Amino acid sequence: MNSSKTKIGILGGGQLGKMMIEESLKLNVEFNVLENDLDCPCNSLADNFILGKLTDEEKINELAAISDVLTYEIEHVNTSALLKLEEEGKKIIPSPRILKIIQDKGLQKTFYSENNIPTSNYFLVENKSEWTNAIKNLGAEKFVAKTRKDGYDGKGVCILNSYEVLNNPSAIPFDGACVLEEFVNCKKELSVIVAKDVFGNILCYPIVEMEFDAVANLVTFLFAPADISIDIEKKAKQISLQAVDALNSPGLFAVELFLTQDDTILINEIAPRPHNSGHHTIEACNTSQFEQLVRILIGLPLGNTNLIQAAAMINLLGDTTFTGHYRLKYLNELEEMDGVYIHLYGKKESKPMRKLGHITVTANTLEEVKSKAKKVMDFAGFEKA
Ligand code: ADP
Repeated sequence: MNSSKTKIGILGGGQLGKMMIEESLKLNVEFNVLENDLDCPCNSLADNFILGKLTDEEKINELAAISDVLTYEIEHVNTSALLKLEEEGKKIIPSPRILKIIQDKGLQKTFYSENNIPTSNYFLVENKSEWTNAIKNLGAEKFVAKTRKDGYDGKGVCILNSYEVLNNPSAIPFDGACVLEEFVNCKKELSVIVAKDVFGNILCYPIVEMEFDAVANLVTFLFAPADISIDIEKKAKQISLQAVDALNSPGLFAVELFLTQDDTILINEIAPRPHNSGHHTIEACNTSQFEQLVRILIGLPLGNTNLIQAAAMINLLGDTTFTGHYRLKYLNELEEMDGVYIHLYGKKESKPMRKLGHITVTANTLEEVKSKAKKVMDFAGFEKA
């Protein structure tokens, strides 16, 4: 290994960047971070912090000028600026080509169809006037409308009843370009983190299953390993590898999948970065998803992805009743529990449903993890400080 530090530039200074930095302190790296908020989780940890918007080309170029390699921890960045930099020879992982596809749920769906990757049936619409035709063509009782751009954490996603929308067009929630897709009746939602290094080697983490909060559209519980048959596990991994292979770039990718009632696997979406569904890898796997991405960025071989223990992950979300300073209500009770790891992201203010931290629970078996996670859930809330 070269004695000089590799300088990694991260677009985005949120919790994903923070955990990347925390998890790779043992590696020979330095971090530069661009973010538009001085109070963001990364500010106190970054070697160099640039204050600026992730859409500001000048600021991105400033970050590139002091970094050997760039990555991003959020998709809503100026992709054209990154594409220009890549063309000029800057190393950017994953390639911004992929960002262009992922940023637009319409292009993403088209990408899956063109590469024969199974996904739910869908139609693309440009505006409200095209909804009626698309809904009729889908022919499903329920469908999901997604704005093509700028949605995140379930915002810009709406589950609708076809009959109701056809009879009452004022129920159409979005006017711009959208994907309308068939509602998938899921048995489970699964996620596979796939890591691909610069040498072309590729590894999957053990599959996890997620439980969603139907109101907020956010992961509430996650369990690893997923409770699925070997056949389904094989199929899920094969589809995830096929999708990442088609993207044709090194990087760390979270592939979100639906397992339908008749055991078909459909791809929902891919995040080209560390993901909420991989947080447990910090305590439960040999190499965390965060260290893995850093290894890829600096040209190291992939670390081992095995699960050492069964795990659950619980998101700590801001209370819906207040905004402002906060503290964990039952910190002492949680600290006394065995195999319970509290991560707080250091955000200054709580806002309703804001991701403020997470808790990982580990144990020898999935049953033990599940019962411990339920207890933890009772203590996992914030109060005003
Ligand atoms: P985001 O990018 O904001 O996370 P997603 O497209 O992943 O949005 O949708 C959020 C959640 O909505 C999914 O995890 C799933 O629970 C639900 N969902 C999305 N698409 C469908 C679908 N076609 N059928 C059923 N549920 C869906």
